[in-house]
Amino acid sequence: MMYKRSSALFKEAQTVIPGGVNSPVRAFKAVGGTPIFAKSAKGAYVYDEDGNRYIDYINSWGPMLLGHAFPPVVDAVIERAKAGTSFGMPTELENKIAELAVSMVPNIDKIRFVNSGTEACMSAIRLARGFTKKEKIVKFAGCYHGHSDAFLIEAGSGAVTFGTPNSPGVTQGTAKDTLLATYNDLGSVEKLITANPNEIAAIIIEPVAGNMGCIPPKEGFLEALRHLCDTNDILLIFDEVMTGFRLAKGGVQELKGVYADMVCFGKVIGGGLPVGAFAARSEIMDYLAPTGPVYQAGTLSGNPLAMAAGLAMLKAINADKGLMNRLEEKTKYLHVGMADVLDRNNIDYTINRIGSMISVHFCKDKVVDFKSAAKGNNDTFKTFFHGMLNKGIYIAPSAFESWFITDALSYQDLNETIAAVEQVAKEL
Ligand SMILES: *Cc1c(COP(=O)(O)O)cnc(C)c1O
Repeated sequence: MMYKRSSALFKEAQTVIPGGVNSPVRAFKAVGGTPIFAKSAKGAYVYDEDGNRYIDYINSWGPMLLGHAFPPVVDAVIERAKAGTSFGMPTELENKIAELAVSMVPNIDKIRFVNSGTEACMSAIRLARGFTKKEKIVKFAGCYHGHSDAFLIEAGSGAVTFGTPNSPGVTQGTAKDTLLATYNDLGSVEKLITANPNEIAAIIIEPVAGNMGCIPPKEGFLEALRHLCDTNDILLIFDEVMTGFRLAKGGVQELKGVYADMVCFGKVIGGGLPVGAFAARSEIMDYLAPTGPVYQAGTLSGNPLAMAAGLAMLKAINADKGLMNRLEEKTKYLHVGMADVLDRNNIDYTINRIGSMISVHFCKDKVVDFKSAAKGNNDTFKTFFHGMLNKGIYIAPSAFESWFITDALSYQDLNETIAAVEQVAKEL
């Protein structure tokens, strides 16, 4: 592969954009080399500025569940743009997507739209604190809830990839209100509750973790958290920015049959445009301005282009009865194919998979929390990443990220991917 234009563009970018990127995970810092500059994408493929084609397993970090440039989304955005791109006034479109989202997701009455997953989680926490009149929150090490101050405490995703899970700029005052638990370890949560009686407003969790690789909850873990919240007057917040409308139409709440008090969305809900949302039953949501005292706002929130894209996306997901099964079958096929190759080549690995999320960790032991995820061999990952890239397979440039399977992937694409793993495995 030639990366001539990408290299030149990256050089230029670094002179005017910090690190040359507008979000750190896009830089190849953890794996070395030059980030690929995207030029276009269609279906399962992304094309770079040098004309290389890649089978894409990042898919904009999640939104492109149905493939790139999905025609209903593209058409909806074009149509909407002709009628004006922003009004700062309510639109019928917002009612439509809100009604559809509320009908698809269990246990929510009302939803508020914002512009990113970060905003959704940040606002949900403020609302939870206002509603419960308590100040502390519990998060889990390795979970990522966007880059707002309260969450940059042992955060996953880019924060851990760059070695800054605790970012400078977050005040100690803020940090002290974020309590840290261990994923899949109920005892760690119980300890925090005992040590901070009547002080915890909410427990926020990725109900299937996707920002330290993919880590599903252990059997009974979410149920036990639900019970702990009920008995201690704590709100349970599911951050379904990654899993919402992906692992089931109603997200992990539907998949696992465990209900949260509040749910955060992003990624898929915007169909590739900047959208986030948070939702809960009316009693909680009506505590938000303008009906309630907790303030939250946005000039471009509910933006018509974004809502048109999101609505087209959710409609397509809602109408497609076979979608979740197809996604799971494809992911399983990839899992079985890669496992076979890695076994035959005597490579230490763990593959975690649920629905259309999958991650490969280069370590022997089970990966169930942040500590075990961090045991993966990063040198092996680097070699794997660049080997795959050179064979036209684009996976996330970090071992702490999930791969996202899109419905646009064909079995031929999956076979091509497994064949690439076969070649790369010999270099590991
Ligand atoms: C991506 C992500 C976020 C942040 O969303 P942005 O749109 O990047 O701000 C929050 N929580 C989870 C679980 C995510 O995967």
